[in-house]
Amino acid sequence: MPILYKQKIGFKSAITRGLRRRCPSCGEGKAFSGYLQPVSVCSVCSAPLGDIRADDFPPYLTIFIVGHIVVPFALIAEQNWEWSVGLHMIVWLPLTLALLLAILPFMKGAAIGLMWRLGLKGDEQH
Ligand SMILES: [Zn+2]
Repeated sequence: MPILYKQKIGFKSAITRGLRRRCPSCGEGKAFSGYLQPVSVCSVCSAPLGDIRADDFPPYLTIFIVGHIVVPFALIAEQNWEWSVGLHMIVWLPLTLALLLAILPFMKGAAIGLMWRLGLKGDEQH
């Protein structure tokens, strides 16, 4: 992966700006034009955010976080109330899906912020 940019912005700032779905470079412009679609360039500072391909990293982060939220509660429910498998499915599947869809865009922002700070572009097609 090639190094694209030299930045003076710290890792923490770049990641937190990304978490807020803002441009990691300036923190002002919106980093996304849709749910998960990054803008090609920042409207404020012209940082080329559309070149950064986060690939599987945001889903990996999202699954890691949601798994650590849902699984403990599912185990608590199983141990304390002996729910049926059907009740577990009714409760945990929609909750898991809702949490995944809610958290994923923010994890993508954080991943783009981190990759931007590292100067990584992601996989390239040759
Ligand atoms: Zn910007």
